[in-house]
Order: sequence, then C-alpha cells, then structure tokens
Amino acid sequence: MLAIFNPRKRGIKMTTPYRTMTYTFLPDTAICDDCLKELFDPESKRYLYPYIGCPNCGPRYALMKNVPFERQNTTMADWEMCPTCKEEYENPQNRRYHAELNCCPQCGPNYYLSENGERYEGEEMFRRVAELLNAGEILLVKNNGGYHLVCDAFNRNAVQVMRDKLGRPRKSFAIMVKDLEAAKEIVHLSEKEEAILLSKKRPILLAKSKSEELSSIVAPNNTDIGLMVPYTGLQHLLFHFGAPRYIVMTSANYPGEPTIHKEDQLTRLVEDFQCATLIGEREIERSVDDTVLKVTKLGAVPFRRSRGYNNLLDITLPSSRPILTVGADLKSTITLVKDQKVVMSHHLGDMTKYGTQLKFERTVKDYLAIHGVDLSETIIGYDLHPEYFTTKFAQNLEGYRHIAVQHHKAHLASILALKNKLSERVVGIVFDGAGFGEDGEIWGGEIFVGSVQEGFTRHGHLRKASLIGGDAAATYPLQALAGFIGDFDKDLFDRLQLPDPFPKALKIKEKNIRTFPTTSVGRLYDAVAALLGFHLDNSFEGEAAIALEYLASQSKVEEVYTFPWTGEELDYRPLFEEMIQSKLKGQSPSVIARGFHRSLAQAVVDVIQSLCEEYDTNYAVLSGGVFHNSLLVSDIFDLLEGSKIEILYDDEVPLGDNCISLGQAAILSATIIE
Ligand SMILES: [Zn+2]
Ligand SMILES: [Zn+2]
Ligand SMILES: [Zn+2]
Repeated sequence: MLAIFNPRKRGIKMTTPYRTMTYTFLPDTAICDDCLKELFDPESKRYLYPYIGCPNCGPRYALMKNVPFERQNTTMADWEMCPTCKEEYENPQNRRYHAELNCCPQCGPNYYLSENGERYEGEEMFRRVAELLNAGEILLVKNNGGYHLVCDAFNRNAVQVMRDKLGRPRKSFAIMVKDLEAAKEIVHLSEKEEAILLSKKRPILLAKSKSEELSSIVAPNNTDIGLMVPYTGLQHLLFHFGAPRYIVMTSANYPGEPTIHKEDQLTRLVEDFQCATLIGEREIERSVDDTVLKVTKLGAVPFRRSRGYNNLLDITLPSSRPILTVGADLKSTITLVKDQKVVMSHHLGDMTKYGTQLKFERTVKDYLAIHGVDLSETIIGYDLHPEYFTTKFAQNLEGYRHIAVQHHKAHLASILALKNKLSERVVGIVFDGAGFGEDGEIWGGEIFVGSVQEGFTRHGHLRKASLIGGDAAATYPLQALAGFIGDFDKDLFDRLQLPDPFPKALKIKEKNIRTFPTTSVGRLYDAVAALLGFHLDNSFEGEAAIALEYLASQSKVEEVYTFPWTGEELDYRPLFEEMIQSKLKGQSPSVIARGFHRSLAQAVVDVIQSLCEEYDTNYAVLSGGVFHNSLLVSDIFDLLEGSKIEILYDDEVPLGDNCISLGQAAILSATIIE
C-alpha cells in the first residue's frame, strides 16, 4: 500500500533554481464588463466568441503550467496569434496589450457540441444547447476550470436522474442563474451578498431560499440555495441563446473525486449519462472547483476556498527555512512558506479518493517546483492523525524535519495568522466532526487558552460521549444518539421508541465493541437531529446538522435548556434530559431544535466569558465546521452584545478543514527556532 503514496517513487525530490514567491499562481476571475460588452457587440471581432478575455479577466490558475503568467507557460502556448491579435498584444495603447491568452475566432480555440455523433458549432450550437436544456436533458459543459453537469434546475425529473446517476440522493446542487434579477426571485439577498455574488470571484453563494419549490428539488432540508451568476463568456452565451434562467451547474465528478477537466476523463460520465457534451478546445491544465461562500456574523466565510482566491496570502510568517504543510484529509489544502511569504493552495478535496490523492501529489510537486523550494531544506508539517493519507505522504517526503500538529490547534492558528496576532492570547473554541487528539482520542468539541507563539492548552471540552461502532456513528445519527444518551434510564427509550440502528447501537455499546470516547460536537448535532426525527443516514458530511438548522430556522426561541460549563467540560446530560422531556410533552421538533441552538450558543458564551476573565484577554476565536451554522453564530453574537469581548474572524480563512494547512504552517513558524 505504501507504494501508492511514496513520494520518493513519484520523484518528488525537488532541487530547483532559486525563485522568489512573487511569482506564483494567479487567480481565475470573472469576465469583465468591457469584454462582456464586446461579446454582444455585432461590430466586435469577438462577437459571441466564448473565449473572449483581456488582461483584466479570465482564467489564470486553471491554465498555468508554470510561472510567470506568460503565454508560453499556459495551455495557450500552441495557439498562434493572428496578425490583428498580435497587433493588440504588442500595442501599449490597446486594452489587450500583453493579454497573455489573447485570441479571436480566427486564430483561437472554439467550442463545439458533440451529440450522438453530430457536431454543432457557432450559433446553431448554442440554440441546440438551449433546446436540449429546455427539453429536460442533462449536458456536460466545459467551463474555465473543468466540466460541469448542467440541467434545468426546475426540472424535477432531470435533477433526479442526476442524483441517481451520481449516487447523490439528497446533497444540494449549486445552480447558476441568468442574472441578479433572477437570483432575487429565489433567494433573499443583502447588499453585501449581492456584491459578493457579482464580485470578480463569482463564488457559489449560499443564500436563504425564497422558493420552496426550487429548494425541494435542488436543496432539500436546507435553509439555503447555493447559487452563482455567469462568470465566463460561454455561460453568458448559454443564457443569451435561451437556456432556462435557473440551471443546475455542478462540477462533473463522482462524489469526492476531482472535477473532470480533460476530454479523455469523460468516458465514464458520458456512458452513464448518455448525454451531449459541449466541448471547448482550450485545454485546462488543472481543475479548479467553484468557491462556496456564506455570509454569517463571522464574515463572508469560504466553505470551499477555491476559484478566485489569491494563492499568495497578504501576511508574512517568520521562518528561516521553507515550510510545507499538507493539511487534513477531507478538505485538504497545502501551504508553503518561503522568505516569510505564504502561499496556500485551493481546496483539493477528499483524500480517501485515489483521484484526489493524485491531484494532491501533483499540487505538492508543482508548488515546490514553481516556487523553487528545496525539500531537503524544508520543515514539513502534517496532522497528528497517524492514518491520514496526508500524514503518511508527508512522513515520506525527504524534508529537513517532520513535525505533527494537532488538528484543532491548527484551526485556531489559521485565523490568528491572518489577523497577524501570533502572540495574542485568546480563548479558542473549535467545534467540528473529528480530529485526532493529543491523547489519541477523537476530539471535536475543544476549548483552548493560549497563543500561537506560547502554544494552546486544552482547557476543556464537550463531555465525552461514546462513538459507537467507530466511523459508523458518523454515518448514522441514531447511532450517534445512542452514544450520548445510552446511559439514560431505559424506560425513556421505551417511551421515545427510536428505530434501528438506535437499539442495535445500545447493544454494541453494552458489549463495548468498537466503542470509543469522543468529544465531537459534530456528533452532538447528529444526535440531536436524530432525537428530533432525522432517522436517515448522513448521505453527505453534515447532512443531519444542516437539516437540524433548517428545522430550527422555522421557530423562534421559546425554550432554552441547561447546558452547564463545569470549568472542565460542557455537560450535555441536562441538555438531553430537558429536550427529551419537552419532546415527550409533545413540543414541536422545530421549537426544540431552535432551543438547542440557543442553548449551545449560551454554553459557548459562558465558556468565553469565564475564561476571558480568568486569563485576562478580550479575544475569542471560533473555528471548525460547526460554526458554518449561521443560527448558532448569530445567537453567540447576540448573547455577547455589549460585552467587551471581540471574536476574531477573517474573510480569507475557511472555518472547515481547508484552513488546516495554514494553521499548521503558522504554528511551525512561530514555534520552531532555527
Ligand atoms: Zn476582460
Ligand atoms: Zn486572432
Ligand atoms: Zn476540523
């Protein structure tokens, strides 16, 4: 098995010429207004040309083979400019002066539609695409950073076919809407959200749904719909020629695998879907996922930090040696520090999938090479979890030193690095699904005090529950519930009448088979969701928690439960006792779900206030995927109102595990003195 990820065998032992970090990957940005105007101007030579672009817009990262960003270092190297394009490129007065990807319909790549052996081009192609989408067909469409699967978002059958074929029964699909007007008809948008939707990054924005019909199709049991507006010439053209105003646009990949970006990877999807493919002739060097963002009280938080973000961060980290860190396993990123400058990769994905492992390895190799980093001089950081793919990969690199960093400490350090507060003492709360603890147990409800420089001390945690059946407890919320209330009075279970796997899990717990202690708040969410009626499995990470937030959002706060902070642990026993009593009295699940959020927020605030006072600090940090929950976060901010405590956050840094590599790098840079 080692052979799969032995980097030495893959030749990842880099000694490359010295380069400064100024030359790095550039972000992909949305089509600019000038190009958009030309796209629909019949007088323009790029009228209706999908690959229109200029120095101010278009893909970069997705097409770059090397640095700096010059045509010969991109996938456009083999396309020769025609005389008029060349004249634009060389003329300092022209707005396309040094447009590295400059091309036009005469000299550049183009698109064609391949449908059952037929080939469509030009306007006929766009009309045919619109016709197919309006007829409920699914299409594969190449965008700047990879292929998307596309269909009419209001067509229940088409979306169901997509779900069945991808093995994605309930997870929400992102949609693309024609324009801002169309967006406003289906979601609530604040001014800030409108600006984000139209920003150069053009992320998928998670916004509160207004349309029950659309939610039930693309985002069931979810408060939000993930939507974006067109960011390429091609996408504008799809709508221009009559595509439905709301189309599903989900990256073309099977769950967890990287997005397909080359034609020779399409075979399985085309066979499964038997669909037409809109193929672009410009090659993509590396796939780029759409960024996913949500605005909460913690800022415009990237759930998935990818397209549109700068790799070069606007911070420095002190270090006399280069540092390479490889993040965690589920939402991995890598970070490289050299000459105190910091570059962080895009979201790389789920390392349990082979395709993602290859993408990860290639990213490490590329980052070392283009930044001229010599591995033998480099300090390598990775997660404490011994079984992570990234851990084993890092340990096999021929680095200068190898150092493991605890998962939840890395969470905190990522935010403090971006706030430039490496020496600031804070109270840190990290709530997530799972991370390997320093005692070898599974952590996920952690309370720390300290700074990046002096180190964080685990001051307390969620009271330990049982993770019954190991990983299975993360799949089955009812099994997670048994791990929290399994020791309660048995009469209660008769009255609650919870279905399998709850009773089965109790038996496993009794026999103490594969049962581990955990402090995971992710599992607490699952358990509460199960108590309140979510009896399905988690078909994707966070499903039960998202459903619980959705349920809670339908009520006002009517009940608050006791969830005491003992100074060492947050004791969930009274919380469950009171929720169960309320449920047995016939209280609506929605009111109880709302009460749970408020109670958890109150518990967090109690911890923050008591520890801030004890340790004489006014700063608190929240991290971990649980804090994507906007109801929880807004309750915390409400409860802290008027207090002098400041919660530190930053729009650049994800709360989920995309942040781990940055946090690892910050901790290594602050603690290694050489
Ligand atoms: Zn432009
Ligand atoms: Zn040309
Ligand atoms: Zn985490």
